[in-house]
Amino acid sequence: MTSTGAAFDVSRVRRDFPILAQRVHGKPLVYLDNAATSQKPQSVLDALASYYTTENSNIHRGIHYLSEQATADYEEARSKVRVLLNASDDREIIFVRGATEGINLVAGSYGKSNVGQGDEVIISAMEHHSNIVPWQILCQERGAHLRVVPMNDDGDLLVDEYERLLGPRTKLVSIVHVSNSLGTINPVRRIIEMAHSRGVPVLVDGAQSAPHMNVDVRELDCDFFVFSGHKLYGPTGIGVLYGKADLLESMPPYQGGGDMIKSVTFERTLYNDLPYRFEAGTPNIAGTIGLGAAVDYVSSIGLENIEAYEHELLDYGTRALSSISGLRLVGTARKKAGILSFVLDGVHPHDIGTILDSEGIAVRTGHHCTQPVMDRFGIPATARASLAFYNTRQEIDALVKGIDKVLEVFS
Ligand code: PMP
Repeated sequence: MTSTGAAFDVSRVRRDFPILAQRVHGKPLVYLDNAATSQKPQSVLDALASYYTTENSNIHRGIHYLSEQATADYEEARSKVRVLLNASDDREIIFVRGATEGINLVAGSYGKSNVGQGDEVIISAMEHHSNIVPWQILCQERGAHLRVVPMNDDGDLLVDEYERLLGPRTKLVSIVHVSNSLGTINPVRRIIEMAHSRGVPVLVDGAQSAPHMNVDVRELDCDFFVFSGHKLYGPTGIGVLYGKADLLESMPPYQGGGDMIKSVTFERTLYNDLPYRFEAGTPNIAGTIGLGAAVDYVSSIGLENIEAYEHELLDYGTRALSSISGLRLVGTARKKAGILSFVLDGVHPHDIGTILDSEGIAVRTGHHCTQPVMDRFGIPATARASLAFYNTRQEIDALVKGIDKVLEVFS
């Protein structure tokens, strides 16, 4: 037990992440950029090295030992993700490059075959660009319209407005579970229920939820769910699209190539079964196996423990940052995950980031790929500290000291 009462020992957990022991500019690294990408435990690094050292080969088509081993490990990773999300069938787990590709797959396949002239797609005011631009492209191509659910000054979605937007032309709702720039946890269960009562399917962008809380796609009853491996303590270049089997079955391929076919002639191609129909070409085999190791790792700690610990840290950080005069938190929703976005009177966020970096503290500054959120709040950018379960109260204290230093420089 730690001093914060969480059900795991944070100092032991930190030893699993070799990068955290580094010094940066002569100071201990304080890594608070977890929403951009998270650090990797040794077990994930070992899984990558072990794959390349002992079983590197192409999957599915080989009849030799290495190929069979690699195929078994690749498919085992699929089962691990299925259990993580509580999906009912491995066929519902499609490996993609990341959340971005997952959304593009749904827009390019489901969207193109179901959204037509005059139809509508609903997103929210707090989407990452990855959950805006694919729908914009689709709507432009099809002569359809993008509708946007507004939010209030705290960063809470206006659910009544959402209900008003749902109409006979709505063909899909695509909504972020946890906002990467505000930290808002959206009431996705309710949002999905409201859409389903009108027969509209829902995609949930789980890039910022899957690494930080238990996600149960059957309980949510979402139709699609996407996340990125690299934010879930796994490698870059690998992510997941979950889709209900009957929906995926009804969708045309997103990309053509090897592995997604049963047979090919110049006249006609028969497509493969799920999930392979959506995995054209040689996939990121090492990345998938690494993601499987990351899933094992978070499962061994327990996502409910991760969520509880990060929540306490968020409360601590919120109190600490709120007491700094001249600092304004951007994103004060009722239900929040571990994101602390802020601005300082008279200081550009990039200067905040640069001075904090000189103290060994990694935060992100900018629009966080959510320019419409910045426009909504009338600011060009924020500084953002984003938490993971290996962060500590001492690191929050270091952040506060760093911000004091920024204020000194600009006083
Ligand atoms: N959605 C959200 C909410 C995100 O935070 C991110 C990454 N910042 C993405 C989508 C895109 O993820 P990726 O770049 O890994 O595809």
